[in-house]
Amino acid sequence: MSQPQAFTQGPHKLLVIPGPIEVADDVLLANAHPSMSHVSPDFVPVFGDCLRMLRHVLFAPEAQPVITAGSGTLGWDHVAANVCEPGDEVLVLNSGYFGDSFAECLEVYGSKVTQLKAAIGSKPSLDEVEAALKAKKYKVLTFTHVDTSTAVLSDAKGLGELVQRVSPETVLVLDGVCSVASEEIRMADWGIDVVLTASQKGLGCPPGLMILAASKKAIAKFEARKQRPNSYYASWAKWLPVMKAYESGTGAYFGTPPTNLLYALHASLTTITTRSPSLEERFALHKAASRRVKDFVTKLGLQQLVADGIKDGANGMTAVKYPEGIKAGDLLPKMVAKNIIIAAGLHKEVKDTYCRIGHLAFPPPSPPPARSV
Ligand SMILES: *Cc1c(COP(=O)(O)O)cnc(C)c1O
Repeated sequence: MSQPQAFTQGPHKLLVIPGPIEVADDVLLANAHPSMSHVSPDFVPVFGDCLRMLRHVLFAPEAQPVITAGSGTLGWDHVAANVCEPGDEVLVLNSGYFGDSFAECLEVYGSKVTQLKAAIGSKPSLDEVEAALKAKKYKVLTFTHVDTSTAVLSDAKGLGELVQRVSPETVLVLDGVCSVASEEIRMADWGIDVVLTASQKGLGCPPGLMILAASKKAIAKFEARKQRPNSYYASWAKWLPVMKAYESGTGAYFGTPPTNLLYALHASLTTITTRSPSLEERFALHKAASRRVKDFVTKLGLQQLVADGIKDGANGMTAVKYPEGIKAGDLLPKMVAKNIIIAAGLHKEVKDTYCRIGHLAFPPPSPPPARSV
């Protein structure tokens, strides 16, 4: 039996949180592929294409992609267990909730973590980072490109240039779970060594995939390790040969890949890399959509967690403070009644004072049905 050719998802509440996001019909249909052997000659090139298309999205012609079952969080384990060794000094730039978590993960694997923490709604300045890099030698520097708890957008290009100039040995790691495909990332040109992400945010797939790319410099640090990786499932010693095999057109095995999700990712990456709009146009359209949301929020008289959201905020989400006297319970259920799901606050210190609107989906999904679903 052949695959159905068309599929339209039924009426549903509009999911506009910063991930999972609304998924396009063709991606959901691809996910409904009949079960496949993970080493079959029909499936192998699908996986290989995903690895190749990921390089394209990240402008990283020489990087080594790794895609496994898991979520974005597993990307932190990959960095902590393969690039870092116990006792290594790591500088974590903290612009919210996800900086705390990445730091905790690195510590679990034995890294010595120093955090540069910014006030809520902002990020460490390039001057502060430069001073920290000059004060101590760090093997790894991590930052959250878009902190999903605050909507702060970090200056990936500026950090790349800074590391090249002040501490070129340092491996620069970008947590791009909430930025890949909605914010411009030029891994090779900007000197970013690891980008880690997940399937369910800007890449527009169901959740379930850990996705990363590592530069030659990051791989060299891995190869120079004195000890084997201190994780089994996240070990590059296990995964790199598997990724290379899939890309060269033969199957290989270490932990079954989620075959259906890879069909879904293939559909989504094909749209992103080969159809109109181009990647550059997509980033510009995200900026325009973000400006519309942020301008509207301002017109309503509301403030954002990021003081100047258009200048310093993410283009895939907006964090909006409630007006005086309004709580999450006053707003979110009313939105649900209108078939719109937005997210509550997440930053531990202020989570009851704001909500988060995701605009990561592209093209923007259709409006929700007027009647309750
Ligand atoms: C969502 C998110 C994560 C965690 O990803 P999961 O897929 O939920 O494990 C990490 N970092 C950032 C910036 C995120 O937005």
